[in-house]
Amino acid sequence: MRVKETFAKSVIHYHDHAYSTNWDINLYRGCEHKCIYCFAQYSHKYLESDQFFDDIIVKTNVAEALNTDFSKRNWEPRAINLCGVTDPYQPLEKKYELMPKIIETFIRHKNPMIITTKSTLLMRDLDLLEELNKSAFVEIRVSASVINENIRNKIEPLAAPTIERLEMLSEITKRGIDTGVLMMPIIPYLTDNIANLSNIFQISKENGANFIIPAIMHLRGETKKNFYNHIDKLFPNLRSKIEPLYRGAYVDKKYLKNFSEKISLLRNKYNFYNKIKKREHPKKEIEQLNLL
Ligand code: SF4
Repeated sequence: MRVKETFAKSVIHYHDHAYSTNWDINLYRGCEHKCIYCFAQYSHKYLESDQFFDDIIVKTNVAEALNTDFSKRNWEPRAINLCGVTDPYQPLEKKYELMPKIIETFIRHKNPMIITTKSTLLMRDLDLLEELNKSAFVEIRVSASVINENIRNKIEPLAAPTIERLEMLSEITKRGIDTGVLMMPIIPYLTDNIANLSNIFQISKENGANFIIPAIMHLRGETKKNFYNHIDKLFPNLRSKIEPLYRGAYVDKKYLKNFSEKISLLRNKYNFYNKIKKREHPKKEIEQLNLL
């Protein structure tokens, strides 16, 4: 793996395809977790390298650049997702320790934060996240799609075991921080069986998750080619079943309808309805002063 350090002028990124926020920060470019279905590989084609998993770019000054972004007069505190196209707690974060400084910057500016991760390294920063949650909300989203460790190890080789990701939610919940599970991407004929889905619902419930958002895998652009290359090596009999479901980037509609019915049954069984809260964003202190 090659690591390149870089300086960023501005780090808050706007996009128009939000789950719950239109704002992202990516402290790394590229991701060591090496998920075989990774949707984010396109983001490297704009850089000098197309080796998304092997050329990692580290924005070493991200906290300072963020402080500059937050200090601009037109910035209003609003939820920002870390990260959009990489995992903020990928293994390199152990060495670079960018997240503690970033969270401290969020605390200083009382800005809400959403974190999406497949790592348990986040627990290192739990005290800081608890502090931020007192002045601006924090939401932790764990990505978890397969319980079986043999399969997990093949499809997400450098991510944490799924069970550890889900169990960490209980510690986070005890600190008063909201948590959720992104049960995605579910891979047809590999992780879509009812036992796997049911286990994720049950363990998420036991560990205090507020919501589960399931989604079937998409295969856009380069992702499709890379995914099938891995599948041919790892699960040689699977491609002939999956391929007919993906004429384009999205799964077959009839398959999707059956999957949605399975999910409805599980929501009823585990009494697990999505509770993504509507949030009040903190007001900028300078504005409050102006009102007096
Ligand atoms: S954790 Fe996310 S960004 Fe990293 S390899 Fe997996 S899917 Fe891609």
